[in-house]
Amino acid sequence: MPRIYLDHNATTPVDPRVLEAMLPFFREKFGNAASKSHSFGWEAEDAVEAARAQVAALIGAEPKEVVFTSGATEADNLAIKGVCEAYAENGNHVVTGAMEHNAVLDTCRALGRRGVEVTVLPVGRDGIVDPDAVARAIGPRTVLVSIMAANNEIGTLQPVAEIGRIAKERGVLFHSDAAQAAGKVPLDVGAAGVDLLSISAHKIYGPKGVGALYVRRRDPRVKLAAQVDGGGHERGLRSGTLPVPLIVGFGKACEFAGSELREEAARLRRLRDRLHRGIVSRLDGVTLNGHVEKRLPGTLSLAFAGVEGEGVMMGMKDVAVSSGAACTSASIEPSHVLLALGIGEDAARSSLRFGLGRSTTEAEVDAAIEAVVASVTRLREASKPPRTRPKPTEAVS
Ligand SMILES: *Cc1c(COP(=O)(O)O)cnc(C)c1O
Repeated sequence: MPRIYLDHNATTPVDPRVLEAMLPFFREKFGNAASKSHSFGWEAEDAVEAARAQVAALIGAEPKEVVFTSGATEADNLAIKGVCEAYAENGNHVVTGAMEHNAVLDTCRALGRRGVEVTVLPVGRDGIVDPDAVARAIGPRTVLVSIMAANNEIGTLQPVAEIGRIAKERGVLFHSDAAQAAGKVPLDVGAAGVDLLSISAHKIYGPKGVGALYVRRRDPRVKLAAQVDGGGHERGLRSGTLPVPLIVGFGKACEFAGSELREEAARLRRLRDRLHRGIVSRLDGVTLNGHVEKRLPGTLSLAFAGVEGEGVMMGMKDVAVSSGAACTSASIEPSHVLLALGIGEDAARSSLRFGLGRSTTEAEVDAAIEAVVASVTRLREASKPPRTRPKPTEAVS
């Protein structure tokens, strides 16, 4: 059986059209975008600015508001640390959520060790942060609220527009990690009332190693303390020679994600629901993690009662899925996201994440259903107590 990739939340392959656009910038157009004295530099700079406009267009921003980084992790660090440093006079309190990516949670923990107070809001069973809880958590010393747009493990969409409105009313900045949401669901920094937004190329068929932070320039103009000092690239917010080929690819990836969003979202939703229906029609004890509707179109997280997710995966080696977050799957701890749902350790350990994407076909979905059903069934059979065989003591009498 050919391998089936259903882990698009972890990463995506580079779209061939994106790769094609990148290649000249590895070869003949290799200039440094910061070289102002010759055409090699100018063509690189032009390409970077064209890409900046493409990235901005995907999220409804101005090109000047886009700061290129090495990915969403760095963008999250720059946003949260950068705001806390720049606004230290105003306060030292950050509000975030229990289901955030570790790029946000670990950054907040690092700030906690430097004396910043961090409030981590719980989520409901549906995985959604209550905007009223955000409002209650904001105090006179709060400088930033950081709540993700879409969760990477269960796909749940957060009420960013409501949270953005609350943050604005209270005069607090709002950052959102949109690494999973951008390019998959409509996202507009104006409508969402977001002041800072993190995105990543490799989640939307662009290359790994590039991302961006949107930084609002008007109403309000967000101040940010740089976390990487050097040549003053990116308006002094992020120094370092720009990876022109990666940025060109990121721009193209944003263009395609935007122009194909509606159609692709509908297609993925159909395939995802086919996968879900196919599994629950043949297996008992399967529950959905997260909100049924407020969810990314291609994400499905299921708990399989009585088996471990890791075990189910071992039994279907040709289907690539994930148990818990990719970033934490090196450790055996159940994912903090699933635990935050309050489903309990066993259900968390019994969960699998299916991430459908651009290459996913109906035939792959059907083959995956077969593989999952077979693997879960085998495990459940194996763990049944052997009722027919009598115990040795009974056999004697
Ligand atoms: C993938 C991901 C990140 C990390 O992005 P990188 O570009 O790999 O650093 C951060 N947040 C979320 C929600 C993600 O899905």
